[in-house]
Amino acid sequence: MKENRAIYPGSFDPVHLGHLDVIRRSTQIFSSVIVAVAASKAKGPLFSVDVRMQMLRDSLGDNPAIQILPLHGLLVDFAREQEVFTVIRGLRAVSDFEFEFQMALMNRKLEPRLETVYLTPKEDYTYLSSRIVKEVALFGGDVEKFVPAPAAARLKMGLGEPGAAEQARLRQKS
Ligand code: ADP
Repeated sequence: MKENRAIYPGSFDPVHLGHLDVIRRSTQIFSSVIVAVAASKAKGPLFSVDVRMQMLRDSLGDNPAIQILPLHGLLVDFAREQEVFTVIRGLRAVSDFEFEFQMALMNRKLEPRLETVYLTPKEDYTYLSSRIVKEVALFGGDVEKFVPAPAAARLKMGLGEPGAAEQARLRQKS
């Protein structure tokens, strides 16, 4: 069978059930999927790339069709390195569209071979985002319905890296 690979890039800070739903759907279409964990420093992530990758590994288990890799530079450079030119993105609502559309066109300008494929999650997950999950966790809410158990455990352990809870609180205030 012809190899039919795709990259699913994102911050996954932390992984939630919407992400897992998109990954599951993508493995039904593609023979293998690279989940690429972007550093996303500008977003002030709560968890390090290593911790985010570990949460993904613990949540996805051993599946030879899924590879989890760090993504530090431009997506187009990563795509060239991997020789994979299909990118998967999740679309929750119309509000995601403008940014996604702009990014897909920019990526295509940078690398004409790149195609972006959009998948929509189960309706129950359309309201989910990592940001909202972190806000709920920060104020002591129960996140177990929204994230896989390994991410819920990390969120409970004190919101990620040492000092991260304090940083998150400060960001919340600003
Ligand atoms: P971003 O890439 O904007 O930092 P994430 O890293 O959280 O956002 O998400 C990675 C990808 O997963 C993006 O394509 C995003 O649209 C998608 N996604 C995020 N949350 C959901 C969800 N609840 N359902 C489906 N797709 C989602």
